[in-house]
Amino acid sequence: MLASTLVKKDSRTVMSVQTLPDPVPGPGEALLEIRAAALNHLDLYGRAHHAANSRAEPQIVGSDASGVVAALGPEVDTLEIGAEVVLNPGLGCGRCEFCMRGQQSECPRFDLVGRGTPGTFAEKTVVPAANLHPKPSHLSFAQGAALCLDHVTAWRMLMTRGDLRMGDSVLIHGIGGGAALASLQLARLLDAKVIVTSSSDEKLRRADELGAHLGINYRQQDDVAEIVRKFTDGRGVDLVIDTVGAATWPSSVAAARNGGRVVACGATTGADGVVNIREVFWRQISILGSTMGSDKDFRDMLSAVEGHSLEPVIDSTWPLAEAGAALDRLQSGAQFGKIVLEV
Ligand SMILES: [Zn+2]
Repeated sequence: MLASTLVKKDSRTVMSVQTLPDPVPGPGEALLEIRAAALNHLDLYGRAHHAANSRAEPQIVGSDASGVVAALGPEVDTLEIGAEVVLNPGLGCGRCEFCMRGQQSECPRFDLVGRGTPGTFAEKTVVPAANLHPKPSHLSFAQGAALCLDHVTAWRMLMTRGDLRMGDSVLIHGIGGGAALASLQLARLLDAKVIVTSSSDEKLRRADELGAHLGINYRQQDDVAEIVRKFTDGRGVDLVIDTVGAATWPSSVAAARNGGRVVACGATTGADGVVNIREVFWRQISILGSTMGSDKDFRDMLSAVEGHSLEPVIDSTWPLAEAGAALDRLQSGAQFGKIVLEV
């Protein structure tokens, strides 16, 4: 098979298409013939990590994929060869108390396809059969790949951790990123009143087309929370989705209503945010962390996507051989939606 692989060349890390032996599924595993793979910030971290280690071994990154089941290992009776599937990239150990409770993303050994294991920037990969789910029938393979990590992350933030109710108001920072856009789309399914922020008027315009009720350009407005309060009749929003981190953290807490929730799942601008503790207890703000999702979150997300014919937003598609350039686009932050490799 061909795989776009991180390799050392003249002591630098480059991405190069390599021919590798086909992986073989073991007990409980399936061979996935990949048709599309989507990019995540994790892949940028993987590349940076590889670059920082002068003796790093060749590595295939990539966590999101959709494709066709090509072969089954022993003891798999839940899948059929030829089935069109999407990959849940979350890997729990399957044995600890958290996995037994169905909370795989709380597993102490929780990991992702493409980190400890070979990833999806390849023609084929082997994954646990339980991580493959039927691809929603209205989606292309590229759209299926675009769903995986971001939509399950957004689902858990909004529904499982954030306890979103019909008609709630939601502030989503940094619209344009995959998880933020997935949050906008899924929140609208519950008729939420959604406010989004970005430094780009163009991204705000496109979020408006996706159903956002108010867009705030945080480069042009110095007090985002003040604008949110005015828009919500002085009340503040029920739920804040913050994937941005240090830069947005103070406005996230200030924009939440009394008794509101702030859910964090990323820190692309830095991890050391400032929080006014007095404001947190006096106004009874709940601060919640969220990471990816459980198997149930993934299944619930897929059934909502299928039931509402929801289509993830795709920024651009690239051939497998241009995975390096596709990662550069992700790093630039210019994208609106998912960047997808077609295999
Ligand atoms: Zn576990």
